[in-house]
Amino acid sequence: MAALPSWIDMLTELVSHRSISSANPDLDTSNEAVIDALATWAESLGFRCQKLPVSPGKFNLLATLGEGAGGLVLSGHTDTVPFDADGWDSDPFVLTQRDNRLHGLGSTDMKGFLALALTAVSELNPKHLREPLILLGTADEESSMDGARALAQAGYPRARFAVIGEPTGLVPVRAHKGILMERIQINGQSAHSSNPDLGVSALDAMHRVIGELHDYRNELKADQVDPGFSVPWPTLNLGCIHGGDAPNRVCSDCALDFDLRPTPGLDPDRLRAQIDARLAQVAEQTGADIRRTPLFEAVPPFGNPGGALLDHCAELTGHAPITVGFGTEAPFLAALDMEVVVMGPGSIDVAHQPNEYLPIDQAQQSMGIIKQLIQKHCL
Ligand SMILES: [Zn+2]
Repeated sequence: MAALPSWIDMLTELVSHRSISSANPDLDTSNEAVIDALATWAESLGFRCQKLPVSPGKFNLLATLGEGAGGLVLSGHTDTVPFDADGWDSDPFVLTQRDNRLHGLGSTDMKGFLALALTAVSELNPKHLREPLILLGTADEESSMDGARALAQAGYPRARFAVIGEPTGLVPVRAHKGILMERIQINGQSAHSSNPDLGVSALDAMHRVIGELHDYRNELKADQVDPGFSVPWPTLNLGCIHGGDAPNRVCSDCALDFDLRPTPGLDPDRLRAQIDARLAQVAEQTGADIRRTPLFEAVPPFGNPGGALLDHCAELTGHAPITVGFGTEAPFLAALDMEVVVMGPGSIDVAHQPNEYLPIDQAQQSMGIIKQLIQKHCL
């Protein structure tokens, strides 16, 4: 059996494999090389590996050690965001050490966590697990979250607990808001402006729709207060609007894009239904055709109401759990009935930008924490 490379050597290889996910097909690349490298290392440690196709060129890796119910998932996405070559002081695909930091695209967000998790397992050398340990590598977290969506739909992995090693400075994260982005398209009837009654103004209807959205926003703000967030209620932002073409024509088409960031406990589909009910009223009042379509599939909000894993992470790190502003795959794993905590080395503040890095001391600290998590929940 080949010896497992050091975590820095593994991270060097993982960073060298481009695995960019982007809605722009010119930038998007496969994550297969990252998945294959992880699978090779995991198999050398005795994991049973399943390479699960998500879409052409995109795969999840499900690597399982041990059998039975319960257990712990250590999860990381295998993709990165696109990069801006001019801003980097070194090649983003060559892991480069400067000032006790490992620089490279995906070093902290979040290939580092996967290399550290493998090394933690190898140092424990677990022969007999009481409960299974599952290493999960996902596809397309940075774009569509299709990897995590596919897992939630397929109904696995099943375990008691899951830690997602996103860069949180090793502070346990218990909640984040969700993200919906929606378009409202209104079609009316054009007419000469001198006799507006011959037409149906999409702009006038949109004026009413915006009024409804303002009312809805105020209701959410009053009824859905969550003091755990710095902005302690759901936000609804009217982001852009397009409509009409001439002052002497009744406007026949108008479109509005908005985003809505729900607090934990608010189901995206229920929010959409509430908005649709308001839109239906305006359609009836105005005679305009009003349709809402999602601009992308929603990321649901995530909230861990408190549990054994959250307590353990707080105890191991000495940090009280926090909420964050960015979305993760946590709601999809939580939908599989696992208690989920988001916690990993490095900082989100240096992710998604040139010279992204993983601090070596925090990486080493996280290895100790991963070992203790495995010890407590699997051994
Ligand atoms: Zn990430």
